[in-house]
Amino acid sequence: MKSVRFADGESFHVGKILCLGRNYPEHIKEMKAETVSAPVVFIKPSTALVESGGWVVIPPISDDMHHEVELVVVIGRDGRGIPAEQAMEYVAGYAVGLDMTLRDVQADAKKRGLPWTVAKGFDTSAPLSAAVRVGRVSDPHALSIELRVNGAVRQSSNTRQMILRIPGIIAYCSTVFSLEAGDLIFTGTPEGVGRVVSGDRIDAHIASIGSLTVGVR
Ligand code: MG
Repeated sequence: MKSVRFADGESFHVGKILCLGRNYPEHIKEMKAETVSAPVVFIKPSTALVESGGWVVIPPISDDMHHEVELVVVIGRDGRGIPAEQAMEYVAGYAVGLDMTLRDVQADAKKRGLPWTVAKGFDTSAPLSAAVRVGRVSDPHALSIELRVNGAVRQSSNTRQMILRIPGIIAYCSTVFSLEAGDLIFTGTPEGVGRVVSGDRIDAHIASIGSLTVGVR
């Protein structure tokens, strides 16, 4: 799968996947990370995508894979240098995503000042639900966002806690990267991230947007 599907049947070929780090205050606290003045942005390849109902596979280089549930913005038009006031015109819709993270690999990279590419971009690191049209969501910054592992709630927050809002995210990202229709932006995770192991089942849900289920092996 290298496409994002809408319920009405339309799909976009996914180009790049931009991801924000440190965009919820309580997650910054739990990671004992510093609040940053400019957004933390990293990229996953489109080969990281997994559809709902699929599997996340822990690569042999890690023994500590974490779940991060995130609101995902689907870009619908090409643009560069997009002003925040016009940014929502570039949004086709939203989806539920998981930013699966090899926390042990990431911690080592952080310590040594190396990139997060392996920790964040491995195969199956980006499970993605079907998308909903932008017009179906009246306020993307007022949605409950939840993740369960084997039925137990691990993450439960609201997108109103996002530090940088969607227009600001698009404006910032488009100063650095040309955005293209089908690009995805993962907008950061709330607190409650934690480890999953082989045999676990992850269910993620964002109100008005949908649900996503994957197994871990
Ligand atoms: Mg994340």
